[in-house]
Amino acid sequence: MISTLYRIDYSQNFVIMQPMEYEPVIGLEIHAELNTSTKMFCGCKNDPLEHHPNVNICPVCMAHPGTLPVINRDAVEKVIRVGLALGGEISPYSQFDRKNYFYPDLPKGYQISQYKYPIVLGGSLRGVRITRVHLEEDTGRLQHIDGGPASGAGQPATLVDYNRVGVPLMELVSEPDIRTATDARAFAEELHEILRYVNASDADMEKGQMRIEANISIRPLGETTFGTKVEVKNINSFRAVEKAIMYELQRQEEALRQGEKIKQETRGWDDINQCTVSQRSKESAHDYRYLPEPDLPPLNLTSAGGFDIETMRNRLPELPMAKRERFSKQYGLPSKIISFLVSDKHLADYFEQASSELASWIGENKEAEFQKASAILANYMSSDLQSLLVAKDAQITDIRITPENFAELVKMIYTNEISSRAAKDVLARMFADGSDPSDIVQEDNLRQISNVSALDETVKKIIQENPKPVEDYKKGKTVALQMLIGKVMKETKGAANPEVVREVLTKLLGGVQ
Ligand SMILES: [Zn+2]
Repeated sequence: MISTLYRIDYSQNFVIMQPMEYEPVIGLEIHAELNTSTKMFCGCKNDPLEHHPNVNICPVCMAHPGTLPVINRDAVEKVIRVGLALGGEISPYSQFDRKNYFYPDLPKGYQISQYKYPIVLGGSLRGVRITRVHLEEDTGRLQHIDGGPASGAGQPATLVDYNRVGVPLMELVSEPDIRTATDARAFAEELHEILRYVNASDADMEKGQMRIEANISIRPLGETTFGTKVEVKNINSFRAVEKAIMYELQRQEEALRQGEKIKQETRGWDDINQCTVSQRSKESAHDYRYLPEPDLPPLNLTSAGGFDIETMRNRLPELPMAKRERFSKQYGLPSKIISFLVSDKHLADYFEQASSELASWIGENKEAEFQKASAILANYMSSDLQSLLVAKDAQITDIRITPENFAELVKMIYTNEISSRAAKDVLARMFADGSDPSDIVQEDNLRQISNVSALDETVKKIIQENPKPVEDYKKGKTVALQMLIGKVMKETKGAANPEVVREVLTKLLGGVQ
């Protein structure tokens, strides 16, 4: 028998017992590797694509005795940009601390991080308050091998690659303001876009450039003190953020309903079995014995210290949220397509370049026409072009089609100069060799015949040659008209505009509709 916790409602004149309802309390901790060219405290290359182990290392990041770290200014500026984008306060005084712990992927025996004086305090994103954003260094990577014949190692072993040691890492901590798994995912996705917009991180979750941890607890609805929180790690995709939180909320609720206590611990998300698994009991800050880093000077993040925060604020690009709003007003596109375009700044820029070509072609004060042409452009970018990019594993920045040529293609579709069928082929060729759409249409004779007089002759010929369908049509069989249109299309090798053919045919056959 399950003993269930009940809430007694005294607000009524009688006592009613109703099952206890719980409120989720979620906070996120997000790490992102900064895309600087060199590491945090030395001149080693910061190259996440390097697959040869232990080539981007030096005595500084390997913590040889007598070496001294030097702060990478670019990394500090990237964190400041993130802070400004989130509306946070840039601390005039910031300082690095040592976080002591031993692990084989950490050659120093401590991590240089920030504890008391982070670079950014406050800010918010999607209504969630940001506690802080600080700067630290990443650890190396351990690779566990089973020792089977394929590994060549003979016996089980753990290999360590120090290329990632000392790569600049940003950590953002949110307040526990999130109440649903969906909102947690939306927060992470929005941050991902911002990190890329301000060019702080490539934030590719698959490559571990962005890592999310969720602090999750539940409490009886109406309660103000927090329940015991559980930290969930190993979340490797946006989908997993949502799934891991949903699983954990349910697990905690079931435990409480059965009268159990929640243990404060770190759990890992198991993506294969779709559950969280206990990893270890949680350390607290004092276990790390934080102390000010004696080898680094404090940061003076003011103009006196060489950091012009106001100029940096003014130079921020238009951020995703503002861009989505503007796209909605300016182009009147559906929100799903806007989200797609804005998800990548380069994609949004490309769209706007091509769209401005369309604007100058259409002329001023013709908003409806402009929005219609822009919608065609957005549709071809999100469907046909996107499929071509995915198939080639390419980015918008890799393509050989200029925005001018893409706009030219859209013009031809808009004016019915080419059919939508032909447009697909033209786009595929433009994508393959970067050629001009009008050249392709010319060479392959893809221009649609929309001119009534040009089609008159052919339609008359088809009517003469097909007395039976003509008769059927006159008797009211509308299917026969479709057949005649098909014959004209065949005769013109697909170049005729089917709508114009239909018009000419019905006119010549006496207007039976
Ligand atoms: Zn180094």
